[in-house]
Amino acid sequence: MSRLSHAEIHRVHRIGWLRAAVLGANDGLVSTASLVVGVAAAGSAKPEILIAGLAGLVAGAMSMATGEYVSVSSQTDAEQADLARETKELAETPDAEREELTQIYVDRGLDRDLAAQVALQLTERDALGSHARDELGISETVTARPVQAALVSALTFAVGAVLPLIIVLLVQETRIALTVAASTVIGLAVFGGLGAAAGGAGVLRGALRVMVWGVLAMASTALVGVIFGVTAG
Ligand SMILES: [Zn+2]
Repeated sequence: MSRLSHAEIHRVHRIGWLRAAVLGANDGLVSTASLVVGVAAAGSAKPEILIAGLAGLVAGAMSMATGEYVSVSSQTDAEQADLARETKELAETPDAEREELTQIYVDRGLDRDLAAQVALQLTERDALGSHARDELGISETVTARPVQAALVSALTFAVGAVLPLIIVLLVQETRIALTVAASTVIGLAVFGGLGAAAGGAGVLRGALRVMVWGVLAMASTALVGVIFGVTAG
């Protein structure tokens, strides 16, 4: 396993957060813009479009937060269960556990004597912490934080979702559908490119991929809006 420098670990960590934020904002932008375009295409007035968009923003942000909270919480539960099992094993079979730790260090390239010494000293210092970090891969920096993850997810969704609502406020009623669609495609290009760059992938391809799906989403809701607008009219 390649050894990452301290700076690199932080960069990887930052990139992880950036990618999650961009994906969250993307979701917010696509789902709210599609909702707005659909309601506008049905011939609704500006206040109705705004109410629908705002309701979509809140509903989307809450569902993202719920989903993130539930998935990260189950990860936390799994980590806690692992740590509880490890605590029990350390109490019941301390020698076998130290041998296990020694073997982990041997596999990482230490010679046997040195590995045994390191395992002994780390066990004396903090047995559970050493096993958590080196055997289970659980350390302070990657511990799951459900509330934080849920808040970040809801916030990034809301940031993406607010863009089409600002457009609705700024333009004439008759131009809402087209202006929101056009500005959303530009927004998606920016988010898609950012997300791709953060993940180390091709910016253009990343932008195009998100734009195509965004256009498809808005076209489908516009179609629904037109069909229901005509039948309701
Ligand atoms: Zn262990």
